[in-house]
Amino acid sequence: MEKMTLSETDKKWDLIVIGGGITGAGVFREAVRIGLKVLLVEQNDFSWGTSSRSSKMVHGGLRYLKEGRFLLTRTSVHERERLLKESPGLIEPLEILVPVYSDHGPGKQALSLGLSIYGLMAHEKQHTYYEPKAFTAMVPGVKEDKLVGGFSFYDAQVDDARLVLRLINEAVLAGGTALNYTQVREILRDSRGSVYGIHLDDVETGESAEFQTETVINATGSWAEKLHPSPKEGLHLRPLRGSHIILAQEALPLTKAISFIHPEDNRPIFATPWEGGVLIGTTDVDHGRDLSLEPYISDPEFAYLLEGLEAYFPSLSISEDQCLSTLAGVRPVLSEGKLAPSKESRESVVWTDKGLVTVTGGKLTTFRKMAFDTLKAAKPFLPSSINTVVSQAVFTKVPVNLSEDDMVPKEVWRRLYGRYGLVATDIVKDSDAKEWETIPGTNTIWAEIRYAAKHENIRHLSDLLLRRVRIGILTPEGGKMHMDRIEALCRPVLSWDDRKWSHEKTAYEALWKSAHRIPRR
Ligand SMILES: Cc1cc2nc3c(=O)[nH]c(=O)nc-3n(C[C@H](O)[C@H](O)[C@H](O)COP(=O)(O)OP(=O)(O)OC[C@H]3O[C@@H](n4cnc5c(N)ncnc54)[C@H](O)[C@@H]3O)c2cc1C
Repeated sequence: MEKMTLSETDKKWDLIVIGGGITGAGVFREAVRIGLKVLLVEQNDFSWGTSSRSSKMVHGGLRYLKEGRFLLTRTSVHERERLLKESPGLIEPLEILVPVYSDHGPGKQALSLGLSIYGLMAHEKQHTYYEPKAFTAMVPGVKEDKLVGGFSFYDAQVDDARLVLRLINEAVLAGGTALNYTQVREILRDSRGSVYGIHLDDVETGESAEFQTETVINATGSWAEKLHPSPKEGLHLRPLRGSHIILAQEALPLTKAISFIHPEDNRPIFATPWEGGVLIGTTDVDHGRDLSLEPYISDPEFAYLLEGLEAYFPSLSISEDQCLSTLAGVRPVLSEGKLAPSKESRESVVWTDKGLVTVTGGKLTTFRKMAFDTLKAAKPFLPSSINTVVSQAVFTKVPVNLSEDDMVPKEVWRRLYGRYGLVATDIVKDSDAKEWETIPGTNTIWAEIRYAAKHENIRHLSDLLLRRVRIGILTPEGGKMHMDRIEALCRPVLSWDDRKWSHEKTAYEALWKSAHRIPRR
């Protein structure tokens, strides 16, 4: 992906997508595929919004089934199954364990019924019941008092930021243009109210320009109503914050995810092995803070998650000392303001207004369906020759029958192909054997740092360490102990002088302390 300034960028487009999260990236990919000339703009870094701060699950959502949201669950299960086939190395199966206790939480029968329906949606039985002894053998340290057994079932897991990046990178390779740190100041309309363009600002250089298009997709998640107020009376976006704690594997040595019911409010909490760490979450509270600022976990949310762990893993005495980082994101949830946060619907909406098509709500899992719904709604404003029906696989096919390489293990190849697509071979070609080792505590190899710095349009150290790779949340203090090696890998390709490096390092440390902090420490 080449860096481009606003003045270097073409001024006329078939379609402009606002928002570089999963929703915008999905629309961007499919719009380029059907032959449109498309520009995507993101006011911060790609995936900076909610789409790098999710629970990283590609899932139907068992709990949505319990709430009677059958259609959403079924659609999500279908998407999960399709994405699992089309995205090896990026979206991978995730086994989830659910303990059954005699004194609280759903009983064996209710869970068995729910999991059977869930399996039917995927056209196969995907759950197994275990007696207590077999169950505890799979989850060392889990509370055994009143445990009567437990289930295992399957969903899927992803690196959310890399999912967004792979969509954007492949759309750019296919002819699209994507600009980060570029904000829409205004959507331009003629005297009849029809869209004829947008006004863009580079948020850092101050450069600004007008761009022509008759079709604008507003995929700005929680920000959507700033550009397109809800046309439905009483229905508005309700920004709900969800936060996670990331633990070191040693603190909670799980090989499978586990879901348990929080004793305080009966909400399900997940502890999920992810990329070398363990993700604990999530909370669900009204955000109530300025959306332009980095979200961060509050002290009560942090205490709530630790209390949940204490209730189910009392013997492990997990405390703030074992936390690597925290991560908070804001869900774009459509609400009539009547329900508790966790009961709000996760459905998406599409609103159309004379060339402006807004798509918001929804989930990471359903991005492809949301992209098709959006393009269908945009059809009246697009060139008439365009067919918005797409049946192709979402990603470029990558090799799956990998042979053992002398130096690079098969699982590393699979992971690289999943995250970067066919350019995975360049990552290996442009590095040496020492850079194929994983960074301690993560599944990331050192070579990814140089590749991302060189080719993935980063402006700041935080773009590199928090989104292109995730070592900023997976290693202690944001990767402080690795900073010399990171510097050696990325500075030559970024051409940052001493002053710029020092400035970036200081800014990154300050950002980490405010947005990924560990309360109480
Ligand atoms: C804690 C949490 C856990 C979740 N877990 C899951 C999960 O496990 N599985 C799942 O399927 N879903 C999950 N979700 C939901 C999912 O993450 C979101 O639905 C999804 O990421 C929203 O993507 P988006 O692209 O619509 O919004 P965002 O990712 O927020 O992207 C919108 C982008 O628009 C940009 N923008 C805003 N205004 C402008 C402007 N004027 N100009 C240019 N750019 C602009 C923003 O900077 C932002 O990057 C979770 C959500 C949360 C909060």
